[in-house]
Amino acid sequence: MIQTMLAARMHDVRAPMRLERVPTPEPGPLDVRVRVKACNIVPNLANVLQNWTTWFPQNPLPALPAIFGLDPAGVVDAVGTDVKGFAPGDRVYVNPGRYCDSCRECRSNKRMHCQNFAFSGYFGLTPTSGMMLDRYPYGGLAEYTIAPQYSLVRLPENISFETGARLGYLGTGYAALRKADVGPDTTVLINGISGTLGLGVALFALAMGASAVLGTGRNRELLDRVKALAPGRVHVHSLADGPVSEWAKSLTGEGVDVHIDALGPGADHEVFHEGLKSLRRGGTAVNIGATSGLVPIDVHHMMDQQLRLIGSCWFSAGEGQAMVDLAASGAVDLSVFEHIVYPLEEVNDAISGISVRNGGFSNFIISPS
Ligand SMILES: [Zn+2]
Repeated sequence: MIQTMLAARMHDVRAPMRLERVPTPEPGPLDVRVRVKACNIVPNLANVLQNWTTWFPQNPLPALPAIFGLDPAGVVDAVGTDVKGFAPGDRVYVNPGRYCDSCRECRSNKRMHCQNFAFSGYFGLTPTSGMMLDRYPYGGLAEYTIAPQYSLVRLPENISFETGARLGYLGTGYAALRKADVGPDTTVLINGISGTLGLGVALFALAMGASAVLGTGRNRELLDRVKALAPGRVHVHSLADGPVSEWAKSLTGEGVDVHIDALGPGADHEVFHEGLKSLRRGGTAVNIGATSGLVPIDVHHMMDQQLRLIGSCWFSAGEGQAMVDLAASGAVDLSVFEHIVYPLEEVNDAISGISVRNGGFSNFIISPS
């Protein structure tokens, strides 16, 4: 008799998900099966489900009907014949980044640059990435998912499944901070500091020793909550209170060493610019946000001032493991999140209900099992 599991599947773009029973998948030789305890509902999921095919036709969705769900955390339930180092019962986060291991970049140990890179349960990043979505068609909005062993992050006891399922957006910020070499000799400016991405950048910038963390946003109440994380090191500025660059330089003298842009879709280009203008000579800007369209940039100024602008997308499982090491040792405090947990049956309510939230402090979770 074929065993079945409960899964939420989308049959048509812009249609609600349907709860259905599908065959429980078996892991391949290098894969594990994970019983999903928590799967994050990220703010961008509604955009992916509703608008992706028209906004970003170059980024393929999984073949429909599809099980979405970007960030699962749970317990290893079965392992493939060639899996080493993981066993049933292990608590894990599944990094949804999938690479092919056969393209030139993968064979050069640059797997985050894979030409077929895809987010399992979400969308692909290249025109050929559909092959990875076909190979791993099980997102986290189901009782079980299948994940390659290379994608696993072992969770310490002091990280709950709900917090573990937040690692995706946290990891995006952490990888950006690492690219910018953030440490005790660094000041960091975060555009959108109270949002789902920006709050994670702030938490890890503090953990990595940044001497000052400056952040901008619109909601003063949320900005005050972020400042309260470390009142001596965090400085916040409402976009209603004047140009960001003037404020940043009034605090730091010459400007900040690092600017991380974590703004959401539809953000004003001028805010991005103000971040660049806030950099001191030799500074680095990293974009992890969704400011879209063409942004005019003064490349002559960038040359004179030895500035860098980097795009950063996602993070490796190894970086994820380093993040939970910081949490296990107490170097980073991930207890700030407010978990709002829904059963799988209420997935459509959860996706539509996420617009009402306390910025990045809210953590929307589906608990399938
Ligand atoms: Zn590859």
